[in-house]
Amino acid sequence: MNRAETSETLLRPRDLEEAADRLSEQADRLRSQLARTEEAASALRADCDLDAGDTGAKAMTLRELRTRAQADEALLERTAAALDRLRAGSFGICTRCGRPQGRERALALPHAELCVVCAEEREAGPGG
Ligand SMILES: [Zn+2]
Repeated sequence: MNRAETSETLLRPRDLEEAADRLSEQADRLRSQLARTEEAASALRADCDLDAGDTGAKAMTLRELRTRAQADEALLERTAAALDRLRAGSFGICTRCGRPQGRERALALPHAELCVVCAEEREAGPGG
């Protein structure tokens, strides 16, 4: 009983390799996405200077681009931190309570730093 439970919750070396691959791919994808967003934003800013009539709509789009870039940056940071944890041997361990996140969660969301319980508590708690 205990043995079966352990094999389902603990990460195997293969799992760590898979997580490392996925995190590296995700980091690459986010970096090129950020570069594209930055390009689009500078193109828009250059346009704004020339064409004052459209600035309202363009400012809106710029804000959207910035929001997207911030979300991508935050995810990239978490992805890099997860890769650090992989190297340090603490991948899959909740950074808040120190308990294993569970194999399924660690593989489904390799950049997650919290276990399900802590993630839910943080969402429910004040200040996010
Ligand atoms: Zn936790």
